Amino acid sequence: MNQIIRLVLLGKQGAGKGTQCIRLSRHYVIEHIATGDMLRAAVKLGTKVGLEAAEYMEKGELIPDDIVIRLVAERTSIGIARERGFVLDGFPRNVHQAEMLDEILVPEALDAVVNLKVPTNLVLKRIASRRVCADCGATYSTSKRPRVDWICDNCGGEVVQRDDDTEAAIQRRLDLYEKETKPLIAFYQEHGKLIEISGVGQEEVVSQRLAVAVDKVLSQKTNHVG
Ligand code: ADP
Ligand code: ZN
Repeated sequence: MNQIIRLVLLGKQGAGKGTQCIRLSRHYVIEHIATGDMLRAAVKLGTKVGLEAAEYMEKGELIPDDIVIRLVAERTSIGIARERGFVLDGFPRNVHQAEMLDEILVPEALDAVVNLKVPTNLVLKRIASRRVCADCGATYSTSKRPRVDWICDNCGGEVVQRDDDTEAAIQRRLDLYEKETKPLIAFYQEHGKLIEISGVGQEEVVSQRLAVAVDKVLSQKTNHVG
C-alpha cells in the first residue's frame, strides 16, 4: 500500500501535539514537520531565518507568515514527506497560512485535520512541567523523565526547559491561539476535514484514538479511489 497521507494536528500549547505527531509519524512512516522545531533549530544555528525569528519567538509572537510558509513549502516537497506524506505540527496557525497551505499542496490536498482537545487548566499544568530536547524536539516532563537525567532518549541531546515557556510568553501564545488559531477549526469544519479528538488521558490511549480516526479517513479515501 503506498497511499500518501497528509495530516494537520491542531491544538493549543501543551495539548500534546508534539508527542502525538511523533507517534503518528512513526506509526504511518510519514514526516513529522514541526515549524516550532524548525525555527528553534534555525535560531540555534544562527541562520538568516533564525536571526529574524528569535525576537518574535522569545515573546511568544508569531513569525511573519511568508517565512514560515516558505519553510513548509520546502519541507513538504522533498524526501519522505513527498513520497509517503506528513503530519504538520504548529502549522497552519492562522487562516491565511491555511489558505496558503492549500495552494502549496495543489494538485493534492490534506486528508484530515485533527483537533486535539484539552482544557486550558490542564495545558497550563503540562507546560509548567514540560521539558524538551534542544536537538530533536522530543518532549519530556518532570514526571516523564528521560532514562538518563536530562539527556534525550532519542538522540542524546540536552533536555531543557524552553526559553518561551515563561508565564508571560505562554499567556501570549494562548491568547494568540484563541485569536488566530481557533478560527481554523471553523475553516476546516467548513472544508469537511475536521476530526475532533480528546487529548486527555495517557499518551498511548490518545495515540490509539488518533490512529482509529486516521485509519477511518484513509479507508474512505481508498474506497473513493478504488
Ligand atoms: P507552542 O505550540 O508551544 O507555541 P511551537 O513550538 O509550535 O510551540 O512554536 C513556538 C514558536 O515558534 C511560536 O510561539 C512562534 O513564535 C513560532 N512559530 C511556530 N510555528 C509558527 C507558525 N506556523 N507561524 C508563525 N510562527 C510560528
Ligand atoms: Zn533528542
